Amino acid sequence: MSELNAQIQSVGVVGAGTMGRGIAQVCAQAGFQVSLFDALPQVPEQSKAAIQKALLKLIEKGKLSETDCKATLDRINPRQSLEDLFHCDLVIEAAIEDLEVKRELFKRLDEACAISTILASNTSAIPISSIAARTEHRHRIAGLHFMNPVPLMKLVEVIQTPVTSDGVIERLLGFSKAIGKTPILVKDGPGFLVGNCARAFYTEALRLLKECIASPAVIDRIIREAGGYRMGPFEVIDLVGLDVNYPSSKALFEDSFFEPRYQLTSGYKLLVEAGFLGRKTGMGFYRYQEGQTVGQAVETHEQAASSASLPKSAWLWAEKSAGLEMLTSLAKKAGVVVLKEPSPGALCLVAPIGRDTVSVVKQLGIDPGNTVAVDTLYGWSSHRTYMACPGVRPEPLACAKSLLQSDGVAASQINDSPGFIMQRFQAVITNLACDLMQQGLASADALNQGMKLGFNFPQGPLEAGDALGSETVLTIIQALYSFYEEDRYRPSPWLKRRGRLGLSLTTPD
Ligand code: NAD
Repeated sequence: MSELNAQIQSVGVVGAGTMGRGIAQVCAQAGFQVSLFDALPQVPEQSKAAIQKALLKLIEKGKLSETDCKATLDRINPRQSLEDLFHCDLVIEAAIEDLEVKRELFKRLDEACAISTILASNTSAIPISSIAARTEHRHRIAGLHFMNPVPLMKLVEVIQTPVTSDGVIERLLGFSKAIGKTPILVKDGPGFLVGNCARAFYTEALRLLKECIASPAVIDRIIREAGGYRMGPFEVIDLVGLDVNYPSSKALFEDSFFEPRYQLTSGYKLLVEAGFLGRKTGMGFYRYQEGQTVGQAVETHEQAASSASLPKSAWLWAEKSAGLEMLTSLAKKAGVVVLKEPSPGALCLVAPIGRDTVSVVKQLGIDPGNTVAVDTLYGWSSHRTYMACPGVRPEPLACAKSLLQSDGVAASQINDSPGFIMQRFQAVITNLACDLMQQGLASADALNQGMKLGFNFPQGPLEAGDALGSETVLTIIQALYSFYEEDRYRPSPWLKRRGRLGLSLTTPD
């Protein structure tokens, strides 16, 4: 067997904290011999004890036998020096996220380990090429990025530098599968794939908040209920901690030479500087008391409109025929007369794509005081979003709200926004994913899989774009770009080419 194809049998784990412990557990459970080392001598034994506890829970749940538990624990060997790991076939570094610490560890490992040993880092975001800067045998250095909690999260990013050999990558892909994970191959770079693509999930929500389009509670609710995301961005940031999310988001912005797509907001920085770090401090984007969310922003718009009656008649307009059918069917069901043309004083209910209410009003030449816009692309049967021009009259607004809730679907009002909340939120995420495709960061499959398994997206970002249609995503992004005139919203070349031809966003060059 050649060195490159040699089987991996023994694994060394450097750094036995949260991640190292999880990695040791899954490797040992899959039958690998594991040597566990930490800079603090007591930590490997403590970690082994914590693994034992986790395994006992699995026994209680009937997911592990006592024999397998004992065999797994027998395979985990706490070590007192780094030298004890030099014989391993694969060493996975999971020490603290500090470039200098990692560089020194890799230098020592590279000097001492057999040439066939693969050296991998579990760094969250430091480029592997940078960690490998002091090593000689760079072909055997790669990233093996596990997600937290390791035993539960299926995804592993296998990161290839320009000089990591294909043989090493093959072995790491095989190893990842052998420990029950789904590996995706990713090119080295800031944030790798998941950490990079996930930024749009945060940055667009922050932008919506900065513009006062809606409160964190309303933005999160629409993203969950209309968009199908498991949690809203502000809920996620508060959960992981602003002190964790902010520095990594800022680092990606800086490492990408200030790419405006990754731009954060001063409001976010202010919260961090004030020490409002999320759930852990009882305050972040939300307030918490004994772990429960309190003092959520009140949906004042909803309350204001709740007692209004249905409109007698309305004029309906939509950018797409499917949208017009939805509006018409709703109006008819509610007994609202559908007008053939706008009539003075009557509600104009419009369904734009990518544009705000003002732009539609100006295009159609209708009365801004009577016009309300509703999103027919997202949340029509789960949670509707509507908005109006500045200066809209209270009566048509209240009537629109009544009509939009007349079939029992909840609706939230937001301030006027090109693309409401979900249209622009999803288009921005998909546009960034398209940019990552254009940069050759990973395959389309890896991108979709990575974001579903690594970040709990309901659909991969390219899949979500295809569900909408590449032309529609391009329409929304172009509308945002022309409204704001900011590079942040410029369409990715990948999206432009596929959107213009109406092709799937997974279509290769
Ligand atoms: P942690 O603080 O829980 O554990 C780090 C461990 O490394 C500590 O036990 C520390 O004593 C040890 N250590 C420090 N210097 C060392 C050295 N020179 N040699 C050996 N051990 C050393 O951190 P963690 O959350 O387990 O993160 C570890 C790595 O995994 C980091 O690079 C982090 O970015 C990455 N990561 C973390 C997560 C996460 O959600 N926690 C997810 C993916 C990747």
